[in-house]
Amino acid sequence: MAIAYISFGSNIDDSDERIEYIETALGIIRANPCVQPPMQVSSYYETEPVGYTDQAKFINGVAKINTTFSCEDLLAFLQRVECMLGRERIEKRVRWGPRSIDLDILLYDNACISQPDLQVPHPEMLNRAFVMIPLNEIAPEVRHPISGKTIRELIEKISETPETKGIIKWSAAIQ
Ligand code: ADP
Ligand code: MG
Repeated sequence: MAIAYISFGSNIDDSDERIEYIETALGIIRANPCVQPPMQVSSYYETEPVGYTDQAKFINGVAKINTTFSCEDLLAFLQRVECMLGRERIEKRVRWGPRSIDLDILLYDNACISQPDLQVPHPEMLNRAFVMIPLNEIAPEVRHPISGKTIRELIEKISETPETKGIIKWSAAIQ
């Protein structure tokens, strides 16, 4: 059994729909036989879009799962969940454009994977306050396997950046 941390995000236009997409995705993940309870979910955070900024705000958060999926199979499963929820890019050429749901693997035990279609730890996680803030809420003592530092230590580096000011706790943790 492995422990994986998954980040989720949605910024489809309608604000209530973002929550519905996230809760549907988390429900599908929780119900899979390769995912064993308990699943732990951070609070939801409303965050300003980065990159392509002419779009709705995101709801972001992080979930911890116990899983018998290999890391590769977990990625394939999460991509199937994205497809089931009709993930689409309204503008396909815009890399960070609106999407119904985005599911990324942040950490998978202490795995360090560097394949063309799968990099773990997620290479951008340390730069993204909208990932690190919810991750720190549920996993402050977990060590990032490349830096060797805990999430609590790593978040200090980004806690003063302007980006973090746009991140608002949207709801308390829902377990
Ligand atoms: P992003 O998450 O960067 O906004 P996408 O969700 O479209 O963009 O992901 C693009 C590709 O990232 C996927 O096809 C997937 O193969 C690859 N990828 C590499 N590492 C990971 C990871 N740790 N978690 C999720 N996707 C990953
Ligand atoms: Mg993704």
